[in-house]
Amino acid sequence: MYHVNGTLVERSAATVSVEDRGFRYGDAAFETCRAYGGEVFRWGRHRERLEATCETLGMAGVVPDDLALRVAETLEANELADAYVRVSITRGVQPGKLTPSLDVDPTIVVVAKPLPRGGDVWEAPAVVQSVTTRRPPGNVLPAEAKTHNYLNGILARLELRRASNDDYRPDEALMRDTDGYVAEGATSNVFFVDDGVVKTPDLGSILPGITRETVVELAENEGFPVETGRYEIGDVRDADEAFLTNTTWELRPIASVDGIDVGGGPMTELLSRLYDERVEARCYSR
Ligand code: PMP
Repeated sequence: MYHVNGTLVERSAATVSVEDRGFRYGDAAFETCRAYGGEVFRWGRHRERLEATCETLGMAGVVPDDLALRVAETLEANELADAYVRVSITRGVQPGKLTPSLDVDPTIVVVAKPLPRGGDVWEAPAVVQSVTTRRPPGNVLPAEAKTHNYLNGILARLELRRASNDDYRPDEALMRDTDGYVAEGATSNVFFVDDGVVKTPDLGSILPGITRETVVELAENEGFPVETGRYEIGDVRDADEAFLTNTTWELRPIASVDGIDVGGGPMTELLSRLYDERVEARCYSR
C-alpha cells in the first residue's frame, strides 16, 4: 500500500497525473528515510530538510503537519517495522507552463518497502570510480536541496557502465565540483581517514547528508579529530581508510578508488558500530 495525497491505496492503483510537475519537470522535493523497529531514524532532520527543499523551490509550507502520521500509516498498512521509506512532494498539477503558479496543491506520496536492519543493502564494500560529470555548483542547482532532479547522478552512474569490464565493476561514482575538488557520490557522501583524522568535503556543493551529519557528531563525541575541507581525488585514493554514507547504506567502506585499493579499517568499523548503537538507542530502546 502506498500513501497518495492522504489516502492509502494499493500499490498497483497508486498513480499521479501525467500533468504533474514532478513528472514534467522534476519539480519536486523528496526524502529517503529508514525505519528501524517502526521508528524513522532522525525523522526530525528529514522533515526539516524536506521543508528546506520546499522553501528553496518556492513552495514553503507545503509539508503537511500529519506527514509523520502518513508515514506511520504506510508502515502499518504494509506490516513493516524495518523499512525503506520515501516521501515525495511535487508542486502538483498546474497549467502547462514553466513558471510555477503561486497556488500550490502538492502531490504527496509515501512509499515503503522492507529493509531489514543489517540487511544486504550493500553486499560488499563500494568500488568507486571518479567520473568526469561534475557536481553542479550551488548557483546552478542549490546543493542543499534534495529534489527529483537526479540527472546529474544518473549521468555519473552511466559513466560507471562505460568504465566497467568483466573484472572491474565500479558501483559508485565519485564526483568533483567544478573546481576539481572531491564533492560526493551519486547518492552518497564521502569520508576518508588520514593519520587518525576523519575528513570529509565541506558543505557548499554537496547534499548535506543526514548520515554525514550523524557520523561527524559521533566522531566528535569520541574526541576524534574531524576536518572538513577541499580535497583532491588523490587524497581519497591515498587515504588509510575511506567510506561512503547515506541513509540506506549507513556507513559503507570503500574497497577502491579508480582501481587503487583503499578499504575500510578500524575507524570505519568503530564509527559503524557507534552508528548502530545510536540506531539501537533511538529506535529500538523506546
Ligand atoms: N548525496 C547525495 C547526492 C544523495 O543523493 C544522498 C542520499 N540522499 C546523500 C548524499 C546522502 O544523504 P543522506 O545521508 O541524508 O541519505
